[in-house]
Amino acid sequence: MTKNTYKEALAHPIFELIATSSKELGIESYVIGGYVRDFLLNRGKGMDIDIVAVGSGIELAQKTASLLSHKPKVQIFKTYGTAMLRAYDREIEFVGARRESYSEESRNPEVASGTLQDDQNRRDFTINALALSLNQDDYGQLLDPFGGIEDLKRKIIRTPLNPDITYSDDPLRMLRAVRFASQLNFKIERESLQAISKNRDRIKIISKERIVDELHKILRSPKPSIGFGLLHQTGLLKIILPELTALEGIDEIEGQRHKDNFWHTLEVVDNIAENTDDLWLRWAALLHDIGKAPTKKFDSKVGWTFHGHEFVGSKMVYKLFKRLRMPLNEKMKYVQKLVLMSSRPIVLAQEVTDSAVRRLIFDAGDHIEDLMTLCEADITTKNPRRFKKYHNNFKLVRRKMKEVEERDHVRNFQPPISGEEIMEIFNIRPSREIGIIKDAIKEAILEGEIPNEYEPARKYMLEKGRELGLEPVKE
Ligand code: ATP
Ligand code: MG
Repeated sequence: MTKNTYKEALAHPIFELIATSSKELGIESYVIGGYVRDFLLNRGKGMDIDIVAVGSGIELAQKTASLLSHKPKVQIFKTYGTAMLRAYDREIEFVGARRESYSEESRNPEVASGTLQDDQNRRDFTINALALSLNQDDYGQLLDPFGGIEDLKRKIIRTPLNPDITYSDDPLRMLRAVRFASQLNFKIERESLQAISKNRDRIKIISKERIVDELHKILRSPKPSIGFGLLHQTGLLKIILPELTALEGIDEIEGQRHKDNFWHTLEVVDNIAENTDDLWLRWAALLHDIGKAPTKKFDSKVGWTFHGHEFVGSKMVYKLFKRLRMPLNEKMKYVQKLVLMSSRPIVLAQEVTDSAVRRLIFDAGDHIEDLMTLCEADITTKNPRRFKKYHNNFKLVRRKMKEVEERDHVRNFQPPISGEEIMEIFNIRPSREIGIIKDAIKEAILEGEIPNEYEPARKYMLEKGRELGLEPVKE
């Protein structure tokens, strides 16, 4: 084993305190896992720090807390033998070094206390098993029993022990492997990849919440297609998101082909990842075409069609969120809305009229910017001429949108005349006519027949009222 020290990784004052506490308790302690990995990769963020104590992690946490001037509360998780405290800007997790043994049905192992090496053995990947000593005689020394440093350099995800057993023991690790590959742009080593394919069905014992957590992290990564490609390659995607794998493939009838909507989707997600960090907009990109599988038809006159796929897709979003136990809240509605509207700007780009632009802004409301971002990401043509043309079309749409919005303010449309006012003017009670008049005013504004202003709307209302046989009692 190489003997490298990385004292600079321990510059944060918390490490001195943990070292002092360990010494006073007469136990050894180490920084391990994500913090060490991210330090070596220069991935600055590393808010969480994981500490392993060869002894009681809970006692070490309590001792450390007592040395801190703000005396933070120590959260103890007895069942797991872990403790957590917040100090400075960090969350610090303490665990006692342990050995684990697994049973078939559950990913919760039997645990017994062990050595540092035992604890490193139970870690998921070599790059996550790296530990730095907080002990006096070798402070800052790196303990790397499985060649994790080498794997960091070679950009490889590899398990410390037999991959088949590692993934079978805790199938969540399969998703973690894919997620780290996507976040770090690493390769999953061949044997690991095979073991994941072999064990993919065991993903079924993992809770939906955990699965979704990892999907979020893959979607948030710089190039999500790395992760989704690996999920697809290992067969996990078909189990987790069959709506997506259903999009794969190209059919040909009478010499006519359509594009492969699965690989197209992954390109769209990568494109959008360059323009937004918004998780839900990225979800919308991932799901924007899912309605294409169930709506696909061939018509010998027009070729392949996917009529109504946006509507069908938006309904599928609900079912998918429900199945994955994702919250059925505003975020879900947002994704549904973007999927539902995903073709609107494309249709519009072919003939940009003021009224079509007003309708688009009216229907999309505050999501209009996101919708445009989605549509621009949707351009995946490999023909440079078309690529440029489509982007230029959208630039024109955006310019027109700005113009129309500055003039007509339909983005958060408030009817210039309220229902109450209509009732008062015609001296009528709540009735169908009021809805008709209000709707007619809205339509006239969107069509550009009248401006979005009070006086013209009032005049228009009087006309409409007369058509309906209503006489104003005041003008
Ligand atoms: P990040 O916090 O960026 O997601 P991390 O590596 O810190 O990455 P955590 O989930 O915080 O991941 O876990 C901390 C450490 O615990 C990991 O580095 C790894 O050593 C170990 N670990 C976490 N989950 C597992 C698991 N399912 N199987 C084995 N070891 C795990
Ligand atoms: Mg972490």
